[in-house]
Amino acid sequence: MSKHIIVIGAGPGGLATAMRLASKGYSVEIYEAEDRVGGRMRGFTDGPYQFDSGPTILQLPRVYEELFAESGLRFSDYIRFTRLDPNTRLRFWDDSYIDLTSDIEAFKAQLATIRADLPQAFERWYIEHIRKNVIGYGPYLGTPVRSALGYLQPKEIAAALPFRPWESLYDHFWRYFKDERLVYAMSYPSKYLGMHPSACSSVFSLVPFLEFADGVWHPEGGFRALAQAFGRAARDLGVPIHLNTPVRQVWIEHGQTRGIELMSGERVTADSVVVNADFGHGVRTLLPESARGRYTDRKLSRMQFSCSTFMLYLGVDRRYEDLPHHQLYLSNNMRRRERPWIDDSALDEQDPAFYVCNPTIVDSSNAPEGHSTLYVLVPIPNTSYNVDWAAKQQSFRDLIISRMPLLGFDDVEKHIQTETCYTAETWRDDFAVHLGSVFNLGHNWNQLGPLRPHIRSDSTRGLYWIGGAVHPGSGLMTILEAARSATFFIGQDLPLERSQAVGALA
Ligand SMILES: Cc1cc2nc3c(=O)[nH]c(=O)nc-3n(C[C@H](O)[C@H](O)[C@H](O)COP(=O)(O)OP(=O)(O)OC[C@H]3O[C@@H](n4cnc5c(N)ncnc54)[C@H](O)[C@@H]3O)c2cc1C
Repeated sequence: MSKHIIVIGAGPGGLATAMRLASKGYSVEIYEAEDRVGGRMRGFTDGPYQFDSGPTILQLPRVYEELFAESGLRFSDYIRFTRLDPNTRLRFWDDSYIDLTSDIEAFKAQLATIRADLPQAFERWYIEHIRKNVIGYGPYLGTPVRSALGYLQPKEIAAALPFRPWESLYDHFWRYFKDERLVYAMSYPSKYLGMHPSACSSVFSLVPFLEFADGVWHPEGGFRALAQAFGRAARDLGVPIHLNTPVRQVWIEHGQTRGIELMSGERVTADSVVVNADFGHGVRTLLPESARGRYTDRKLSRMQFSCSTFMLYLGVDRRYEDLPHHQLYLSNNMRRRERPWIDDSALDEQDPAFYVCNPTIVDSSNAPEGHSTLYVLVPIPNTSYNVDWAAKQQSFRDLIISRMPLLGFDDVEKHIQTETCYTAETWRDDFAVHLGSVFNLGHNWNQLGPLRPHIRSDSTRGLYWIGGAVHPGSGLMTILEAARSATFFIGQDLPLERSQAVGALA
């Protein structure tokens, strides 16, 4: 019998880990509470419209290709990606805009219209980041986390110092561009790390660099098709996925996992258990008190969790052909560097930043002829800040619809055919996300690398975590890197005998 591993949750992290483990020869099973795979990415159908629910921005396609290739599958048999141009349009508080694009010459031409020295400043930044990517990606993002002491390597520290990791993203971009529009445009990915640019370390300037260098992509059929592709790949590798089968608890005896207990009361044995359920949710609901280690309620309440998002998913009976796929409105309030703006600790009902995805222009299959779907996302406080959504939801929705013309979406109200709204409470209650913090733990220094929760549990043998809470962090590309690390740790702790490993000679 091969070594048996149970994965709790069929989110991207659970599916990717299952694919990798199964391809090595482990016997893997996934138990998923919902009726579909994909977690936050599972998407939904509303009448004739199909919507992505969570991720819309896909970076670094090579990590997806590697996942399939290293699992022994051909990526193109499962999904195709389309490259977007522009990557994203950022419209500013003063109604000017800039298109972030991987066409570097076109980007520099836009910069030249803002200020004559900016193209050169951008070139300096870009060249510095080619080096930063070499010294930063592999050792920090692309490899399993080390102990804190493991990072104290004089050679690595000396290589990192010129990049001033102590600087904030805000100060980093200000040093190059000295124009607030560019500072906020270039640092917009900090939002999906759950942080304001002035609170986020400049180590994350690698994310916009990777978008410039490798582009921003869209999976054909949307991210729900990507979720289905991961699910199909896992099944093709022999992984049964039990949908509609919520797990009640990880079954632990004497500090060692024995398997899981389902809501039905049935117990299923396993050699190891990988928890893909959201970390905060999983710690509180899936572990017996004795196995929580240092993650007590008190500890969780002191950890920094990301903002949540207010969502509108609109089916509309018109197309917005002239507007790009990704657009963000960067509001004047976004420039404020004090609470509540810096930490999303209160609902901004005057001038919130927001994002609109217009996917039908590249993916017309998600709406009937001449119609489109629009996906609107507004960062909002997570549920620890107690916004009264029963009282606020309608007026906040009206505010956002009234501001959509700022991004060129005119007359939306009169074209709406279907409408679904999520608040922080939806993410908490329907997606089992602790505090509705959709981007998981913040990425401040005390929650980075070895200071994030560990993939390999510190307190229970045979228990592993996979998802946005562990190193290297929240977001699809980093979670796929974490899946590689989870497989590495499990391989160390639960090695396969030669005869069980795939590829072993009989
Ligand atoms: C609005 C939004 C926008 C985003 N935008 C982007 C983006 O553009 N790019 C990007 O890279 N990332 C983005 N993200 C982040 C990305 O979606 C997440 O990082 C990713 O989905 C997390 O994956 P995961 O596998 O860790 O967990 P999840 O997707 O949360 O999956 C966890 C799974 O565990 C299941 N589960 C929980 N409890 C149980 C139980 N007791 N029994 C059985 N199953 C259980 C859940 O049902 C779920 O299927 C976005 C997220 C949101 C919400």
